[in-house]
Amino acid sequence: MRYNKVLKEIKTYEAGKPIELVVREFGIAKEDVVKLASNENPIGTSPAVERAIIANASKAHLYPDDSMFELKAALASKYAVHEDNIIIGAGSDQVLEFISRAVLDESSSVLMSAVTFAMYEIYAKQMGAKIYRTASYEHKYDEFMEAYHMYKPKIIYLCTPNNPTGDATSKEAVLEIINAVDEETLVVVDGAYMEYAAAKNSKYAISPNDLLSYPNVIYLGTFSKAYGLGGMRVGYGIANAQMIEELYKMRPPFNISSLSLAAAIEACKDESFVEESIVLHTEQIKRYEAFAKENGFEYIESYTNFITYLFDEKMDSTQIADALLKRGVIIRNLASYGMNAMRITIGTSKQNDVFFKHFSEVIA
Ligand SMILES: *Cc1c(COP(=O)(O)O)cnc(C)c1O
Repeated sequence: MRYNKVLKEIKTYEAGKPIELVVREFGIAKEDVVKLASNENPIGTSPAVERAIIANASKAHLYPDDSMFELKAALASKYAVHEDNIIIGAGSDQVLEFISRAVLDESSSVLMSAVTFAMYEIYAKQMGAKIYRTASYEHKYDEFMEAYHMYKPKIIYLCTPNNPTGDATSKEAVLEIINAVDEETLVVVDGAYMEYAAAKNSKYAISPNDLLSYPNVIYLGTFSKAYGLGGMRVGYGIANAQMIEELYKMRPPFNISSLSLAAAIEACKDESFVEESIVLHTEQIKRYEAFAKENGFEYIESYTNFITYLFDEKMDSTQIADALLKRGVIIRNLASYGMNAMRITIGTSKQNDVFFKHFSEVIA
């Protein structure tokens, strides 16, 4: 069997290890496993959303509303845009896939920061496109411009706040890059963690509404992080109506389950859950910053629901991650991104207690 040759270039995405695996492999009781690896919301899901999911269980035999009218209306009102500006995906991941398929082929290239969301590369490679990266993980104007003029990429990915580093790019800096590229380059502004950045400092707040006037720019958002719906797989893209119309040609029918739709619609009505999540997070992340300072290592200032610890040669992120895993603590080792660093999702107060206890012992 011969597979498409582009597959040779692709490494399968490695998702955060599931709790079940740690239970199986290390014989740790399920309730003692702490997963701080996939940037999920540690307080769970809004109770109102859980009720909406249950209430819709009896309609599981019916296909969902393929127009997704109610969800689009809720998002349109939240962001002050029109329903025609919105496409819904099974996670914003699926919207990234639509974008990639809509504009890339084997003659094109894409440009992204040195360390950023792994799926950009995978979707682009599926289309046979070439990958270019800037020198640093921050989204620096000069680095993006130099590469832009050299390679004329078909897509530029601006992930702000950036995953897996946690830093953010100001709205001003993002607009500077957008204004400097021509309409043939599609710019993706991935705001998967925007709720956290906007709450921390308004200069990082980017609303899809700020970008609608550009024919070549799309904003991506998701319900997986601040809204606590990672398991429901709902994300969205917001752009001018022409781009959305083109992306719709890539969409399979009924791409969101009816339970997911009901959950996302309800989540839009419960902004207090997001606020509560951010309050907990803001309080708990201070402990991670203090811990790094007390123990003499660096971290990247975070605008997300995770923090990235940077180690020097005395500490090895792979060894640390393995030792933590054996103790039932799952975090994200960034060695595969070429960094001696690890990314930790900020948990509940209790989960963070467990993390600090084990981490202190491991590094001692
Ligand atoms: C989590 C994440 C997404 C998308 O997540 P979905 O669950 O597919 O909506 C997109 N971009 C970044 C940077 C992320 O961290």
